[in-house]
Amino acid sequence: MSTPQSLDQLGERYVRLVLSLGVHDADYVDAYYGPEEWQQQAARDHEDLAAVGERAESLRDALNAFPAPGTETMLGLRLEYLRRQVAAAVARTRMLRGTRYSFDDEAQALYDVKPPAFSEEHFASLVNDVGNMLPGSGQVHKRFEQYKLQFVIPPSRLALVFDAAIAEGRTRSAAHLSLPPDEHFSVEYVTGKPWSGYNWYKGNATSVIQVNVDFPITIDRAVDLACHEGYPGHHVYNSILELNLARGRGWQEFTIYALFSPQSLIAEGTANFGIEMAFPGRERVAFESDVLFPLAGIDPEYAESYYAVHTLVQRLGYAGNEAARRYLDGRITRAQAAEWLVRYALMSPERAEQRTHFFDKYRSYVINYNLGQDLVQNAVERRGGTADNPERRWQLFGELLSSPRIPSTL
Ligand SMILES: [Zn+2]
Repeated sequence: MSTPQSLDQLGERYVRLVLSLGVHDADYVDAYYGPEEWQQQAARDHEDLAAVGERAESLRDALNAFPAPGTETMLGLRLEYLRRQVAAAVARTRMLRGTRYSFDDEAQALYDVKPPAFSEEHFASLVNDVGNMLPGSGQVHKRFEQYKLQFVIPPSRLALVFDAAIAEGRTRSAAHLSLPPDEHFSVEYVTGKPWSGYNWYKGNATSVIQVNVDFPITIDRAVDLACHEGYPGHHVYNSILELNLARGRGWQEFTIYALFSPQSLIAEGTANFGIEMAFPGRERVAFESDVLFPLAGIDPEYAESYYAVHTLVQRLGYAGNEAARRYLDGRITRAQAAEWLVRYALMSPERAEQRTHFFDKYRSYVINYNLGQDLVQNAVERRGGTADNPERRWQLFGELLSSPRIPSTL
């Protein structure tokens, strides 16, 4: 019988486990700024997946045997966070060794949630509503594609528009959250990626944000990406976790971010809800028509109607999850999944094709965006952070960013 380990020791074992799994899965370690020596050692040891799986299970057992310090305390949240993160690592190791989960089982095992399902009729009815707002007649996705053309940011103005959206997102976030004094990020424009934007967190309150310019970028993407990737989204979330938990409390497990884990639902959920936090209700249209539309050379007169359509189209996000569920469960082909995305998520055929490659690579990860946003919003509103109480809303959002949350402790 060995001496029970402290949570700090178990936290270190978690970091080393994620690093060892990362040796076999290039996407798994999304960010790491702990001791370099640990990462080098994981690469040197190059343990096979069977051994990594055994370590994951042994750590899971040690965490399950750890006496619970009380659920709503920071220590209670920390223990539950480690337990669920390690349970996901056990599942991810099994997947890498050949286990195939159904879409729903995988989402439960990796992200600690049960994704909701909607009928085809539900999406057809929403698409019909969108169609009623668009000019012309005929297939809605074709009319939507045509309609969007006038809202594309000219490539020569892209950086200008993005910089303005980022600056505003920062001002609005910094007014309510304590950001580290030296936080900053750089923006790069890239091509040939399965995603539209990505935040690479580097530690020391620094990120590199990449924006994919494979396809024309419509004006809504400026605020969406500025908030989701930057303020108060991923960049702020990672910076605040680093400041408060990794450095402030010395909790090593927060120096690493395992992509296929419950933490991702919180990361994507807070990033998506962050758009609404920074630009609530009508404030977005006001900023868009005063600042961004003129910068992009688009007539601000159309801002109002464009965002009415945009808000409705956002509700079709779950149609994307449904395409992924059917495709990954082997019920439809890639071509059928792309067709579904065109018809019910109103994507262009090119973007739909790109999205199926996202499904291949990230699988049930897709649920983290919209389900994550809904769960985060519910958690904030349930505690009194409703839209008519912005102070309380920011306070709860800030607390969420600075505590070890996973879906089951939201
Ligand atoms: Zn994201």
